[in-house]
Amino acid sequence: MIVSPMADAAMAGVLGLLVGSFLNVVIHRLPKMMFREWLDESTDNFVPAEGMPSLWQLVFGSGASTPKDLAAAATAALPQVRALPALSLASPRSRCPACGHAIKWYENIPVVSYIALRGKCSACATRISLRYPLVELATGVAFMVVASHWGLTPVGLAWAVFAAILIAQFLIDFDTQLLPDSLNYPLLWLGLLVAALGWNIRLDSAVWGAIGGYLSLWSVYQLHHRLTGKVGMGHGDFKLLAALGAWFGAKSLLALILLSSIVGAAVGGALIVVGKLAHKDIPIPFGPFIAGAGLVAMAAGPAKLQQWLPFAFPF
Ligand SMILES: [Zn+2]
Repeated sequence: MIVSPMADAAMAGVLGLLVGSFLNVVIHRLPKMMFREWLDESTDNFVPAEGMPSLWQLVFGSGASTPKDLAAAATAALPQVRALPALSLASPRSRCPACGHAIKWYENIPVVSYIALRGKCSACATRISLRYPLVELATGVAFMVVASHWGLTPVGLAWAVFAAILIAQFLIDFDTQLLPDSLNYPLLWLGLLVAALGWNIRLDSAVWGAIGGYLSLWSVYQLHHRLTGKVGMGHGDFKLLAALGAWFGAKSLLALILLSSIVGAAVGGALIVVGKLAHKDIPIPFGPFIAGAGLVAMAAGPAKLQQWLPFAFPF
């Protein structure tokens, strides 16, 4: 559907603002949902289900039973963990974190509401983080870029999902040092699917890109770990680069890694200037820079990336 490039871009921009509003919820809640799940699983593992060996017994041998105090603590904690109010991306409704005021639909219009409320909660006047409208704006701009490259087409929709997932991963990793699998894997599968449909790069290039993306960071991690004994990256980083490899191809991997370092230097430099990075020893997650590199590469145009620093791969 091509009305005019301008109208397409405007529609994509409005859609991006709405999706950005949803991404704010994802960024805020997904790590909390993951933590709930871990808590539930880990307590569960100390309390054997009826007739089943506990994870403890599977690990330490069938005769070993969980230490009494651990089992007792888990038994006590489990009902409390299970009794926590339900938390999902859809419920409960968004509330002001300061006063609990339920946010009405007209207070939740992307960017517009923030300006109308002058960045304050309507009930208690606590400042609302500038980050919310910025995430909405960034998603709006990203969707306009997608529309300018691919128009309002199925492949454009796929790239819009790509951009949305990377924006979420950027901030989730920045906040929590986590890169949820529930975002990394759909990004990887969608990249392979888009290639298999013939909408993007060749499928073999996407598959080798995914494998190479994972293994390249995994090798750096192993080497760094053997040499220094420190843990510099997490498995989420390998998976995220694998996903980008599926979208940009094996030839683009070196360029993507270099681009990540450039984004990292730029963000790190900016944080030092703003004074948010007092100590150089604070571990800065690498994931946001990989995500940032993916967004920059998308904006520049995936074909450009393959010309810039092509790997000596035949595809
Ligand atoms: Zn409030």
